[in-house]
Amino acid sequence: MLGLRNLITRRALTFRTIATQGSIGDGVYPSFVKIVEVGPRDGLQNEPLKVPTHIKIELINRLAAAGLRTVEATSFVSPKWVPQLADGTEVLKGIDHKPGVSYPVLVPNLKGLNAAIAAGAQEIAVFGAASESFSQKNINCSIDESLQRFSDVVRQALNQGLRVRGYVSCVLGCPYEGKISPLKVAKVANAMMDMGCYEISLGDTIGVGTPGEMDTMLTEVSRLVPVNNIAVHCHNTYGQALANILMALQHGVAVVDSSVAGLGGCPYAKGASGNVSTEDVVYMLHGMGIKTGVDLEKLIDAGNFISSFLNRPTSSKVACALSKL
Ligand SMILES: [Zn+2]
Repeated sequence: MLGLRNLITRRALTFRTIATQGSIGDGVYPSFVKIVEVGPRDGLQNEPLKVPTHIKIELINRLAAAGLRTVEATSFVSPKWVPQLADGTEVLKGIDHKPGVSYPVLVPNLKGLNAAIAAGAQEIAVFGAASESFSQKNINCSIDESLQRFSDVVRQALNQGLRVRGYVSCVLGCPYEGKISPLKVAKVANAMMDMGCYEISLGDTIGVGTPGEMDTMLTEVSRLVPVNNIAVHCHNTYGQALANILMALQHGVAVVDSSVAGLGGCPYAKGASGNVSTEDVVYMLHGMGIKTGVDLEKLIDAGNFISSFLNRPTSSKVACALSKL
């Protein structure tokens, strides 16, 4: 017990130091945060109900119309693995490609890359894991093997003029291994930067991390990867996502992934909530005087549109509170 109390005291001291450094207005927080909307991909792939193509297209168009500049549209993973997104080609061809908006798609291998390019993709995302056992169970190979595989995909994509975003999953915990070494996260993130990814999204895939762990992990990663190239991707399983994002902002991170209406779940924790909701992130940022370019009202409308289709309540606290006014 004493050990735990010491740990808590130590963390409290750390937070006090950060709080004085990070007060609003002293230039520590970014003045603009780019939101990467992942609902149509990360969200819908984890929803039990299969959504028809035209609803996905409408959702993506509404999200872009709400002012989001990056909307991850779909994935080109085998439909055997992700049947919810088997219509990637139709979705990508069907959306309004709004000027100034990027519509990245997730690609696991060269086959996926070719399909994505044929459907008109201009940006792809590749994913690696910071956990050896997660990599083995999720993509059937070691981290090193996966990096080798991605480097071929990334090289080809760059040769074809595409932009490439990298995901590192399980950065604050793994469903099989538990704790993950921040150094391991830093090494994988750095390897993906070296391949030519323009941005690395650090994912707390199972949403177990706390701000103290986010602090330690970002301190380690930013030794190797410039903070301007780092994004955070927080799931809200344990209700820590906004606090973790706030910690990331204090580190200078200015790109945040989120999912409208908190779409998605977590396949590794039954009944757990999915990504942090975009509405809640936007509300927090605007409340802090940080610009996002997003119209909260239109965003909430987009969230209500997909939630009513899925016949499930929104996971956004903000959308919920505002609908009761
Ligand atoms: Zn996610």
